[in-house]
Amino acid sequence: MDAELLKSKVIREIDALAPELLSASHTIHEYAEMAFKEYKSAALLEDLLEKHGLTVERGIAGMETAFRGMYRGKGEGPTIAILGEYDALPHGHACGHNIIGVAAVGAGIALKNSLGDVPGSISVLGCPAEEGGGGKVFIAKEGYLDGVDAALMTHPMSGTSMIGGPNLAITHFSIKYHGKAAHAASDPHEGINALDAMILGFQNVSALRQHVTEDVRMHGYIIDGGKAPNVIPDYTEARYIVRAATRANLEKVAEKVRKCFAAGALATGATLEFERGFSYSERIVNMTIARKVQANLRKLGLEVEDEPIHVRGSTDFGDVSQLVPAVNAYIQIAPDTVASHSNEFREAAKSPEGDKGLLNAAKAMAMTVVDLLSDPSILKEAWEEHERALAQRR
Ligand SMILES: [Zn+2]
Repeated sequence: MDAELLKSKVIREIDALAPELLSASHTIHEYAEMAFKEYKSAALLEDLLEKHGLTVERGIAGMETAFRGMYRGKGEGPTIAILGEYDALPHGHACGHNIIGVAAVGAGIALKNSLGDVPGSISVLGCPAEEGGGGKVFIAKEGYLDGVDAALMTHPMSGTSMIGGPNLAITHFSIKYHGKAAHAASDPHEGINALDAMILGFQNVSALRQHVTEDVRMHGYIIDGGKAPNVIPDYTEARYIVRAATRANLEKVAEKVRKCFAAGALATGATLEFERGFSYSERIVNMTIARKVQANLRKLGLEVEDEPIHVRGSTDFGDVSQLVPAVNAYIQIAPDTVASHSNEFREAAKSPEGDKGLLNAAKAMAMTVVDLLSDPSILKEAWEEHERALAQRR
């Protein structure tokens, strides 16, 4: 098989699919469904995959809006996962996930139509709730990456296209203190101040800041700090986030943060309710595959940063990258003056630039799959790199 010929074929396929893909992207943009409620968006993508001959499982990994679209090629070969997202923010698709889902589906269909006798399978994974909830964590946990040899995803962005570099593992906390209400002037000695407990907890974390490594980020806010100035607050509530460069460091710091808040309770006599919310692992970048994605993006005429960019955010793609060699590429759809999650970025996600970005994202992923299926040495090298990265973390 000539890889370059096959690449021209997937490019032509995606161009032929363009009207359907772009209409899907604009429709999902309009639906703007949030975490775990992406019913219409998921159904649209599932129908599209099915219409083009992929086998679709709906509602996988315990999530109604998650899906898998499979194409099983002829003979034994590697399985490549292409991941899609389609959840919105409260103010619409201001992170452009409408593009991510459709690009994944487009790449899957183009490959199905092009691979012919080439051995190998494609698994298009529909992943809900990236912005909160972590669909990929469940996809990973429930075994949908078992037997997968590599995973690819793209994300739209402002500024020059790039490979997403290492980012931060993250965990969420819900913190509640229960105290005892009392008149703040006449009977303060009868009260237990749940706000004091909370403020002490926050200050303890601030003292902890001096003693954590540079990669650590700790930030939160108080949702409920009491009801009236003349009442000792009997209940307070906060949300808190801890991030670190590795899951191992995250776990260490998370335990210290828990103790900071426990100390607030100890000092005041309040009772602490401390709950751990969802966590994402850090993203590991597989450079072996990233170089292929980069080369394919450049072949498509895109300008791409030479090295992966370290983004100090977090994504549930991290959990995927812990299991298999994985690359998350970021494709420019707006100038770098446009902030992600802004109203301007939301408009860019359905603009002609957004459409162009979507088609290029689908093409680059499909072309990279062609690379991976046509030269087994790439996957071998990718897995050696992956094992080294995991060994460093142990
Ligand atoms: Zn996003």
